Order: sequence, then C-alpha cells, then structure tokens
Amino acid sequence: MNGGNSAAFTRPPTAELHIHVEAAIDPTHIMAMSRKNGVPLPYLDEADLRSRYAFRNLQEFLNLHYLNLTVLKTEEDFFQLATGYLDGAVGANVRRAEIFFDAQIHLGNGVQIEALMGGLTAAFGASQESHGISTDLIMCFSRDLGTQAAHEMLTLIMPYRDRIIGVGLDSTEIGFGPELYTEVYARAAAEGLHLVAHAGEEGGPDTVMATIDLLHIKRVDHGVRVMEDPKLVERLRTEQIAVTTCPLSNVALGTIPTLADHPLPRMLAEGLLATVSSDGPPYFGGNVDVNYQAIHDELGMTKNDIHLLARNSFEAAFIAPTDRDRWLGEVDAYFAAAE
Ligand SMILES: [Zn+2]
Repeated sequence: MNGGNSAAFTRPPTAELHIHVEAAIDPTHIMAMSRKNGVPLPYLDEADLRSRYAFRNLQEFLNLHYLNLTVLKTEEDFFQLATGYLDGAVGANVRRAEIFFDAQIHLGNGVQIEALMGGLTAAFGASQESHGISTDLIMCFSRDLGTQAAHEMLTLIMPYRDRIIGVGLDSTEIGFGPELYTEVYARAAAEGLHLVAHAGEEGGPDTVMATIDLLHIKRVDHGVRVMEDPKLVERLRTEQIAVTTCPLSNVALGTIPTLADHPLPRMLAEGLLATVSSDGPPYFGGNVDVNYQAIHDELGMTKNDIHLLARNSFEAAFIAPTDRDRWLGEVDAYFAAAE
C-alpha cells in the first residue's frame, strides 16, 4: 500500500492515540510464542495465519485476535509485544503514543498481573531512551465482560495506578451500552484518570452521544458515524471532544465499504478535533504513516489536511503544555520543509 510512492508530507511527526498494544503483535511473534509457551493454535504455519487476516466485521476480527492472545504468558512476552509496537512506531515517525491494553483478557488467560504490568512498563518506561518515543498506558475495560468485571479490574490495577494515565472501553459494542460503565468510570475519574471510550464503531451516533453523557469522555475512539447527527457534531466541536479515527482499520473490518467513504474530510470541514491512528498495524494494513498515505491517495486529503491532523493528534493528547508546544513546533517545521 505504501509502494515507494510516499508523498513528501505523509510521514509527519505525530501522536498515536488509538493503538491497542495487543493488536500490534505480528504473525511471526504469534507463532514463535505459541511454540515457546506450548500453547497450540489451529494454524498450519505463519502463512496460514496471515491468510486468515480477512474480516467481515469487528466480531470476526475479535474472535481471531483473542485466540492469538492466548500465546502471551510471561513478562518477557509482554516486553516483546511492547517493543514490537515501538519498533514499528519509530519508522512511522510517532513521537508520542497513548497505548491501550486489555488487562482483563490477559488475566482471563491465566497471566499474572505482575507479568503483564512488568513487561509493558519495562518496555514503555524506557521508550523515550530506547526509541525516542514518549508513551503512556490506557487500560481498556472489555465491554462484553460486563460491569462487575470492570469494577474488579479497576481495583486490581490500583497498585499500578502510577503506570496508567487513563481508562478506555473496547471490544464488542452492540449489546453492551455505556450505561453499564457509568459507575466504574466515575471511580476512575475520582482517581484522576483520563477517560476515553470506543463508541460509534458498530453503534450509531446515539451510542456516541450516550457515551459522552454517561461516561464524560474526552475522546471518542472511532466515532465513524458521528456525522449522521448534527447535534452530536455541534457538541463534539464546541466541547472539542476528540475523535480518534483509524481509517484502514475501518475498511479492514467492514465498518465502511471503501476508504473513499470515510467521513474524515467532513469531520475536518466541521471543525472536529479528528485524529488518525493505526488501531493495530499488522492486522489492518499498516502503521499510522501508512494511514496518512492512504487518506492522501484514496481520500484526497491534502498537505494542509494532514498538517491539521498531525497538529490535532498533539492537541488531543494527554500531555503537558510545554511538550505540546514543542511537538506542535516540530509538526509545523516538518510541513514548512515538505514540498
Ligand atoms: Zn480500537
């Protein structure tokens, strides 16, 4: 997709605000960890696994994804997982990443929380030195595991409170509305955690509005269908609630038919704080730079559009004002120098 024809402005310094560390695992590592840890997977080989990366919807992806995650067992596995993301993010010119992880899934697979948090924080805690990338972690509640499990997970993570900056909500959207998570989000807010949530990937604009009302989120993850409701658009604009879009993921999961159907140009035209991220590079077609290139090639996004999107990524990030100013300066310098 990135066939050597990159435009000179599609690899800007950027923040990546919608990336699941688990979805950054590549087939080579999945197969290697399966052998190392003695966890059988129903694939003949790596090529067979790769051939299954074709999804008709979110649930089909989640079924394969959760099966693949059973290979992650040790602290070293989680360190490798995190390092794999960072290695790819460097090439994509990511300066800042706010990274989701699904703690409940790993604990459900028998992983010790010490191994999970030890591996992730060993890699991400040194990411500035090792990769030149600033990182922080956002723990996502798995929506389909329900209210009680979310409360228990928030309690379990509290000894690691200083290693996460926020909470999110992901996994199956249909049938698991935001009303289930009102109280656990209030608890997280009382802990000073930032609040984000996936909404509007499968559900309509009413789901997004309810998620904002009930969970008081600062960022909507995906929000593909927000443009269907003018009142919601007005609210997102006036409150500058960010929308973290993942264009290639949306096509890969059938959320939109083709990239040309993506609402991102209309979001920018309406003054929304829209950003671009990868969601999970190996599964959905590439890193954030490949997403920028694709929206230039197939969605007609101009140099000015991509400049705005890169600026938005830092405007919507949970970072100190001095860091924001420095990175925005880097973005502006990049576009001033680009053809
Ligand atoms: Zn996501």
